[in-house]
Amino acid sequence: MSKSVLVVAAHADDETLGCGATIRKHVNSGDRVSIIFMTDGVGSRLSDVDFISKRSRARDIAMKGLGVESIFQFNFPDNAMDSVPLLEIVKVVEDVIDKVRPQIIYTHFHGDVNVDHQICFDAVMTATRPVPNQCVKEIYGFEVLSSTEWQIKPDVAFAPQIYVDVSDCFEDKILALKAYHDEMRDSPHSRSFEHVKILGKHRGHIVGVKFAEAFLTYRILKS
Ligand SMILES: [Zn+2]
Repeated sequence: MSKSVLVVAAHADDETLGCGATIRKHVNSGDRVSIIFMTDGVGSRLSDVDFISKRSRARDIAMKGLGVESIFQFNFPDNAMDSVPLLEIVKVVEDVIDKVRPQIIYTHFHGDVNVDHQICFDAVMTATRPVPNQCVKEIYGFEVLSSTEWQIKPDVAFAPQIYVDVSDCFEDKILALKAYHDEMRDSPHSRSFEHVKILGKHRGHIVGVKFAEAFLTYRILKS
């Protein structure tokens, strides 16, 4: 049976870096994928309208490539989501959940160094409280290069337990990421195409497949 999947990302490109190939895999198997983008992703660096529309165009190209059905773009302040009351952010997540009724949510790892990522996680966990009739049955955290692996607190580590074999659709992730080339850096930067491929291979090789994306499980409710 086809499922509704929701990705909650702080910035356009986080979704592709974190779970782009898994999104494509869901779409290929007939699932409907929606994405929340919390910020325009450029505000703290550049207020120039041209740059914002450029990032939106990149987002739309990437979404088309991954087969995403609907996107919900919000304009919370980039790299300053901690200046907004958490309840406001929770509210928009709840509203989208009411609209698309997802069974599965992918969002940021709680320990990312980026404050917007941490707040997305907090908002998702609050919006999906396991009350009676909660439609969300599975919540997973993804890793975003140059945020997740840069966490240095010794008691906070991304230790995934779920691996998705994306050998057949890893190339779709790379193609979508090409739309965001302005956000990518040259190797040996952590957020380089080279490293995205290395990480995909590394996660794959851990479980004996060519390419994988790895996730932390926050909640699974089996029926
Ligand atoms: Zn981000």
